[in-house]
Amino acid sequence: MPASTRIPPIALPFVSDRAKKTLDLVEEFVEKDCIPAEAVFQAQLGQGEQRWTTHPAVMETLKARAQQLGLWNMFLPKNHFAQGAGFSNLEYGLMAEYLGKSLIASEATNNAAPDTGNMEVLAKYGNEAQKQQWLTPLLEGRIRSAFLMTEPEVASSDATNIQLNIRREGDEYVLNGSKWWSSGAGDPRCAIYLVMGKSAPDHPDPYKQQSVILVPAHTPGITVHRMLTVYGYDDAPHGHGHISFENVRVPAANLVLGEGRGFEIIQGRLGPGRIHHAMRTIGAAEKALEWLIARINDDRKQTFGRPLASHGVILEWVARSRIEIDAARLIVLNAAIKIDQGDAKSALREIAQAKVLVPQTALAVIDRAVQAYGAAGVCQDTPLAYMWALIRTLRIADGPDEVHLQQLGKRENRDRKAEIRQKLEWQRGEGERLLSQTGLKIKGRL
Ligand SMILES: Cc1cc2nc3c(=O)[nH]c(=O)nc-3n(C[C@H](O)[C@H](O)[C@H](O)COP(=O)(O)OP(=O)(O)OC[C@H]3O[C@@H](n4cnc5c(N)ncnc54)[C@H](O)[C@@H]3O)c2cc1C
Repeated sequence: MPASTRIPPIALPFVSDRAKKTLDLVEEFVEKDCIPAEAVFQAQLGQGEQRWTTHPAVMETLKARAQQLGLWNMFLPKNHFAQGAGFSNLEYGLMAEYLGKSLIASEATNNAAPDTGNMEVLAKYGNEAQKQQWLTPLLEGRIRSAFLMTEPEVASSDATNIQLNIRREGDEYVLNGSKWWSSGAGDPRCAIYLVMGKSAPDHPDPYKQQSVILVPAHTPGITVHRMLTVYGYDDAPHGHGHISFENVRVPAANLVLGEGRGFEIIQGRLGPGRIHHAMRTIGAAEKALEWLIARINDDRKQTFGRPLASHGVILEWVARSRIEIDAARLIVLNAAIKIDQGDAKSALREIAQAKVLVPQTALAVIDRAVQAYGAAGVCQDTPLAYMWALIRTLRIADGPDEVHLQQLGKRENRDRKAEIRQKLEWQRGEGERLLSQTGLKIKGRL
């Protein structure tokens, strides 16, 4: 059954015939081209330092194939950008699920983070010169990029803490400070950093102190100190850089949108980007469930004379995984529909719901699959261990769960408390009134 026949009925009315055809092509490309090519990608990447200097040739072969199939830049939604492939967020969401089943499919189709978010920033806020210099090669998949916000010295989940100094000197800006978790900075093709820093640290409005500026990756004064590991994995060739800036000079024209507009930009950047991660994570959860089903039906590995699938508890894992994935998918698709019908700002609540729920769901499913494999599940012989490590970081990256939960809780409480209290009070009074008309009494009632 091709992917287009499995679109949830709730989403189906919003999906065009063209998107359905593309969805089926994405599924086939991921399952038949990308997943089998992962071994070649890893082998070409090699070992040690070579992992940071190599661009596996198989990636270019896959990119050429993807372009031939028309599978390119699907992430840029049609009602907000002219440069994309002409799909809605919902349609891309369905496709991203399949991309999330492979470690290399997103890049092969030019839908990989952090380039997607950075391309959205340039398309939305960049001027013509910035678009020409950086957006065009990114859209063509010729270069890669990184977004530098988080800093080692401060709690960066509160973005008002960001310290990197951006000072104007004549026709230039001078940058001083340090960044870490700069994802994508390890790739030898990473040519441009989008850097968030403080251009007006004393501005009375804490949300007007920040700016975003474009910094070519090899500008003098930049030092990439090391690549950070994720539960021991290096994530090469992408990598997560720890980078310092010492009197780094860039032309004043590299500022995006204007001084003091940094917050506005990051709000815009993180909206749809957060659901892209969630959408791919649904695919990763589906993949974990596939691996789980494969193991429990492996007749060579029976326990106590029976395959694992005939033990009740294991079937319950399968059932729970199915329920949880299907529920999480609906939350993501709902957020995508809400963005399509307005914009990311009007869908903040739905995006936050997806951002929190989906990684937790996927981690639960992956954990069950790991358990079903026994020791094999924690080693390199299945994709499960690495998938778990990658997805665990999503509970921190783009803002930790607690920050989103706090905002969701605050909003739910603020928006509903008065109405709920009033309604319950009325219902109680009405109940008393109706009861008194009957002349009956309820025992034990106050
Ligand atoms: C794999 C990975 C990739 C990343 N990629 C990038 C990137 O490309 N660019 C970039 O700029 N950054 C990136 N990050 C960084 C990420 O965005 C930050 O780690 C995140 O925003 C949290 O900031 P912090 O690490 O400074 O934690 P802190 O701000 O120090 O927070 C620590 C903990 O405090 C708790 N906490 C925070 N606020 C609250 C609250 N209101 N209530 C209760 N508890 C709270 C949370 O549990 C949180 O995890 C990446 C991180 C990872 C792990």
